[in-house]
Amino acid sequence: MESSSSSYEDLIYQKIKEAGEKGIPLKELIKELGLDSRTANLAIRKLMNKKVIRKSSVKENGKTVVKYFINEEPTLITVNLDNIIEIPCFTCKNLTKCGNGSVVSPTTCTYLSKFILMNIKGAS
Ligand code: SF4
Repeated sequence: MESSSSSYEDLIYQKIKEAGEKGIPLKELIKELGLDSRTANLAIRKLMNKKVIRKSSVKENGKTVVKYFINEEPTLITVNLDNIIEIPCFTCKNLTKCGNGSVVSPTTCTYLSKFILMNIKGAS
């Protein structure tokens, strides 16, 4: 029982994936896969709970159509922290005293200003 339910989920997932950015309405999904609406709705609900698909309303020819789309994989963003140690604050003996409005402040710090200016020039 579980395996057939899972295979319906796989079929529906593949069909939605094939539709790509256009998405696919439930009616078309049911028709193309030859499923009954109860089976399709159950499998869709499971896929939605797993957050692998999403439902969105789109305007087509003046009509609002509800379609299913694949949820895209989250984009991995790599941040290089190799040079973070070069920020003067990490090795500053005044770090605990430093703050906006204090005698020692990032707004008046020559070390921080030099670091920022050097890195702005280096980036361009
Ligand atoms: S801003 Fe300047 S004084 Fe403040 S912690 Fe950073 S390097 Fe030290």
